[in-house]
Amino acid sequence: MSVINYKSNQIFPPPPPSGDPTYQYILLKHRVVPGLRKLAVYQKEGGYEGLKKALNDYQPGQVIDLVKQSGLRGRGGAGFPAGTKWSFIPKVGGAKYVCCNADESEPGTFSNHELIENNPHQLIEGILITCYAIGSELGFIYIRGEFARGARVLEEAVKEARAAGLVGKNILGTGFNCEVIVHRGAGAYICGEESALLESLEGKRGFPRLRPPFPAIAGLYARPTVINNSETLCNVPHILRHGPEWYANYGTEKTKGFRLYCLSGHVERPGNYELPCGTTFRKLIYDLAGGVWKGRKLKALIPGGSSTPFLAATDEVLDTPMDFEGIAARGSMQGSAGVIVFDDQTCIVGAVLRLVEFYKDESCGKCTPCREGTQWLVQILHRLEHGEGRPGDLELLLNVGSNIAGKSFCLLGDSAPVPIESALKLFREEFEYHIHQGRCMVGPGANRPVTIGAAH
Ligand code: SF4
Repeated sequence: MSVINYKSNQIFPPPPPSGDPTYQYILLKHRVVPGLRKLAVYQKEGGYEGLKKALNDYQPGQVIDLVKQSGLRGRGGAGFPAGTKWSFIPKVGGAKYVCCNADESEPGTFSNHELIENNPHQLIEGILITCYAIGSELGFIYIRGEFARGARVLEEAVKEARAAGLVGKNILGTGFNCEVIVHRGAGAYICGEESALLESLEGKRGFPRLRPPFPAIAGLYARPTVINNSETLCNVPHILRHGPEWYANYGTEKTKGFRLYCLSGHVERPGNYELPCGTTFRKLIYDLAGGVWKGRKLKALIPGGSSTPFLAATDEVLDTPMDFEGIAARGSMQGSAGVIVFDDQTCIVGAVLRLVEFYKDESCGKCTPCREGTQWLVQILHRLEHGEGRPGDLELLLNVGSNIAGKSFCLLGDSAPVPIESALKLFREEFEYHIHQGRCMVGPGANRPVTIGAAH
């Protein structure tokens, strides 16, 4: 039985059965502690203890070492070690910045806005510790334009923290000064790409930048900048408070700690699930989320947001640990940990069309292969889906895709053909059926694209 939080319009899975060590609410503690978004409650639960420890017990470089020891890897998609990223910031004077990427827009991914709306101080504390570690006095939260409620909650929390001496001058009497600014984007997927985010934050059109130089050397206003995803930064206070060994105790050899898996699509209980990195798909989908909806069978899944290749429903896939290495070994990626479930009545052609339409709509238009190519992909998929496919269309799809991926300016172009290539590898007969029979080969209810991101 799921619980619907009508205020945030989000479907939560039920609270964990007590005594099961797999279930722990660390980042999602708000589910068991009412009112955690208020500073007093957050502090009562140990909030800002990590910041106090960082400022009083450690030099900035030692904080970076602690985060390195914890094994924390970026949660935005690439999985780059957070402490290593911070260590790239030159140890020179002058302005340096921390930017929190809260532009969460990847289809199938919806953990950041739950964290922000319900536990904003956790994120603010993570930003303050990161600023201290790299020698910055200014942190930005770039939040997706549509997250109006989240932006209001964050602004209120920053105000509360400032009034309590946790943001601003001489924080906790330690001489550390740091401001936090909440900046709302305008709702463009491309602004989740870090260099486009920086352009947008500077007040320009959100176009990706040519790299190098990388943000660690020349980021915001051409100054050294750390950019981390919200979930990554939310882990930092817990690492400081409990120690890197505690954190590294969870997860797998190369992917430590906990992960928020966003589960959506054809599943009984969609929502965010906080689990140790490396939990299997089987445990997530069947043990925790009640299995595929309506008693149907699992056909396929997307393991890490729409930019990651489909995986077919096999026992090997279901028993795969959901970490960077485990999913890569199956031929896909962990990405943003947005797990999208497709039941056996899903028309894969329709689902792929829906996904590629997203990339066409969100292409920023800066480079030709992506701007033009994504439109052609949609045109071809559209005629396949509507029974007007032509012989040679599948080769044409792959050909257009190969002229976008690797030939575009940023990763959006690389991502657009991913659903097509992986679906053609796994379900080619369905595409051929569309061409030869002019309709879908799966049962009633087919030809209807799957709903992506059920918790939105
Ligand atoms: Fe813009 Fe697409 Fe080119 Fe990226 S690949 S710069 S999103 S047009």
